[in-house]
Amino acid sequence: MTLTGRTRLAGVMGWPVAHSRSPRLHGFWLQAYGIDGAYVPLAVAPDRFETALRGLAALGFRGCNVTLPHKEAALALADEADDVARRIGAANTVVVRDDGSLAVTNTDAFGFIENLKARALGWPNDRPAVLLGAGGASRAVIVALLDAGVPQIRITNRTLDRARALADAFGKDVLAVAWDERAAALEGAGLLVNGTQLGMAGQPPLEIALDALAGDAVVYDLVYVPLQTALLQAAAARHLRCVDGLGMLLHQARPGFAAWFGREPEVTGPLYAYLAEGL
Ligand code: NAP
Repeated sequence: MTLTGRTRLAGVMGWPVAHSRSPRLHGFWLQAYGIDGAYVPLAVAPDRFETALRGLAALGFRGCNVTLPHKEAALALADEADDVARRIGAANTVVVRDDGSLAVTNTDAFGFIENLKARALGWPNDRPAVLLGAGGASRAVIVALLDAGVPQIRITNRTLDRARALADAFGKDVLAVAWDERAAALEGAGLLVNGTQLGMAGQPPLEIALDALAGDAVVYDLVYVPLQTALLQAAAARHLRCVDGLGMLLHQARPGFAAWFGREPEVTGPLYAYLAEGL
């Protein structure tokens, strides 16, 4: 696509940013829809983040995604943050408004739930969910599941205090469970989510016995490198429905693309295959 004087600009700020798959993802949509736009990686060191963020309007950018380690800072610096970003405590999508002010949201909860709906239609949301991990991604999962009406979320984490802090922050429907009790916590659950780094390439394996999971339960791994994690393979061997993390990445990108480039993008098979290459 040839860039013109009217090219719509967006990108992703991170440090490091080279590993981000977002330029590939947005580039696919820009090409597919023939949009005069560009989405570029922006390597921004933490001590320059505020300057870079405030510079978006002056440079004519429509906005950007924000990834590690800038997500909390983006929320703090924004002129306006929506309810979801505030509840998650971090922002990943910035929109520059006509007056140059910055509005932020967090689309990870949207991406999580849209992917779940796409991959496991009719998942049992009337039963407890078990969430492994208490980091930033887990906060988005909690917001998504509470908004989806899940009656109870059992969070289990290596560092129990972090799980307790989330339970305190999100109220009585969120329970902290000791890491050693993770297999027993699956009793009666409709959904298991891995929100830790365990099972990712280069990280230790995730060890959890799935025996207590009901046959209609869904297993969702946020890890997508590799795409078919050992957890998902173990779940598939039990004929449980499986959801991988790549779809969450694709769906979370939709609201930003629509805001910056003026078209609702679709998550399609070819897009999925293009992003899955090499995983
Ligand atoms: P984070 O804030 O650094 O949290 C990491 C979590 O993993 C913590 O709960 C940590 O437990 C746990 N953990 C790390 N090493 C462990 C080990 N050896 N044993 C037990 N637990 C361990 O990271 P995050 O941003 O939440 O991301 C978590 C995962 O989600 C990553 O794999 C990330 O790639 C993935 N993710 C995927 C998407 C997507 O779109 N699919 C989006 C966001 C994140 P402690 O609290 O005890 O340290």
